[in-house]
Amino acid sequence: MLITNATIVTWGPTGTSGATPQVLPGQALRVQGDRITALGPMRSLAAAHTGEEVVDARGQYVMPGNICAHTHFYGAFARGLAIPGDPPQDFPAILARLWWQLDKALTLDDVRASALVCLVDAVKHGTTTLIDHHASPNAIDGSLDVLAEAVQQAGLRACLCYEVSDRDGAARAEAAIRENVRFAARLAETPAPLLASTFGLHASLTLSDATLDACRAAHSGGFHVHVAEHEADEDDSLRKSGLRVVPRLERHGLLGPQTIAAHCVHIDDGEAERLAATGTWVTHQPRSNMNNAVGAADIEGLLRRGVRVGLGNDGFSNAMWDEWKAAYLYHKAAHRDPRRAGGGTIIDMAVTNNAALAGVFFPPAPLGVIEPGAFADLIFVDYHPTTPLTAGNLPWHILFGCESSMVTTTICGGRVLMRDRRLLFLDEAEITARSRELAAQVWQRFEQLSA
Ligand SMILES: [Zn+2]
Repeated sequence: MLITNATIVTWGPTGTSGATPQVLPGQALRVQGDRITALGPMRSLAAAHTGEEVVDARGQYVMPGNICAHTHFYGAFARGLAIPGDPPQDFPAILARLWWQLDKALTLDDVRASALVCLVDAVKHGTTTLIDHHASPNAIDGSLDVLAEAVQQAGLRACLCYEVSDRDGAARAEAAIRENVRFAARLAETPAPLLASTFGLHASLTLSDATLDACRAAHSGGFHVHVAEHEADEDDSLRKSGLRVVPRLERHGLLGPQTIAAHCVHIDDGEAERLAATGTWVTHQPRSNMNNAVGAADIEGLLRRGVRVGLGNDGFSNAMWDEWKAAYLYHKAAHRDPRRAGGGTIIDMAVTNNAALAGVFFPPAPLGVIEPGAFADLIFVDYHPTTPLTAGNLPWHILFGCESSMVTTTICGGRVLMRDRRLLFLDEAEITARSRELAAQVWQRFEQLSA
C-alpha cells in the first residue's frame, strides 16, 4: 500500500531532551504487511511502485497513532450513572460507592460491549495502542479472552490484564491470578500480533502480603498496578507493612522495567528514587486526577529523576489529545505557574515515553514514530493551521488547534480501520444500541448492589 500526498509528522527522537520532530510535506509512505518500508518524496516513491494500492492522504497530516498507557475498558457504562445518596466526599468513597459496585454488576456480555464502545472511540479518535486494566469480579474467568476478541474485532493493538484484589474475598483473588496466568499462557502458545498481556494488581490498599507474594510466584514478568493515587494508599501501606507503597511493592519483587505504576500522586522523594532506580514506568492521568480531586502528581520531578512517565486516560475518552491538553493545563493551574508542564514535557510523556512503553509489549518494531521499519500505526489528520506550523511549534498546534475529531483515517498494523471517517470493521450504530440496552441493566444491578 502506498500512502500518497501526505504531510508526514515523524515524531521520533523528540521532547525536551531530544531532537525536534520533522514535518515533511509532499511525501509518500510505503506500507507492506504491518510495517512502514519506505518514506520519501511522493513522485519518486510513486514512480518506483506503480500498480500498488494507493491511499491518497489529500495533503492531510499523517502521524503515528496515539498511544494510551493506562485505561479501563470496563468503565464505559459509568457515563451518566447516578450514585445514590450524597456525592462521594473523596476518592476512597468514589471507589467504594462507584467503581467497586459497578465492576460487580458486569457480566461477560457487558465486558464485551463496554470494550467495544471504547474501541469505537479509539479508532475514531486515532488511538491505536491501549494498555488496559480490567475488573469484573463476578465474571473473571475468560474475561481477558472476551476483551481480546473485541480488540481483534476492532483491529487495534492492546495489552490486557486482570486486576487482582483481596476486596472481594480470597476466591476471587485466586481466580484473578489464574485469569492473568491463563491469558498470558494462551498468548505464549498462540501469539496474536496485536495482543499482549501483563499481570494486573489493583492497588496496595486492597492487597495483602500473602496475595502480593502469590502474584509474584505466579508470574515472572512485570505488573500493572495503581500506586498512591490517594493518600489512603500510603496510609494503608504504612499501617500494614511499616513501609510506604513503593518500597512495599519493591519488597515483594513487583517493580522493574516491565512494571507500570499508575498515578503516583502521593509518593515521596524516596519512592521516586526507587521508581527511577528500578526502571519502573509511571503513567499520568490528569483528567482522572482532576475528577477525583486526588492532587497533581509531580510529573516534572519524576522526569528529571529519569523516571519514564507516560500518559494514560484512566477510562476517560480515547481522544488522547484531550488528555494532552488536560496535562498541559492542569499543572499550570495547580501550581499557578505558566512554566509548568510545557509542550516538550507533554511530548516526552504522550509520544516518546508512551512509544517506549508500548515497545515493551509489542516488540520488535518501533511504535509512535514514522520511519522505515516501524509498525504502520498511522492516523490522517484534517487540520488546516491558521498560523505557520513548524516542527518546533507542532506540540502547541496540537494542544491549541487539533481536535481528535479531525482524525479521518486510522491504520493499525498496516490495516486500514477507518477511512474518511467510515469505520470498516465496527458497526457503531449496533454497538451503541447494544451498549445502551446492557448499560440500563447494569445500572439496575448497580442500584441493587448499592442499596
Ligand atoms: Zn486506573
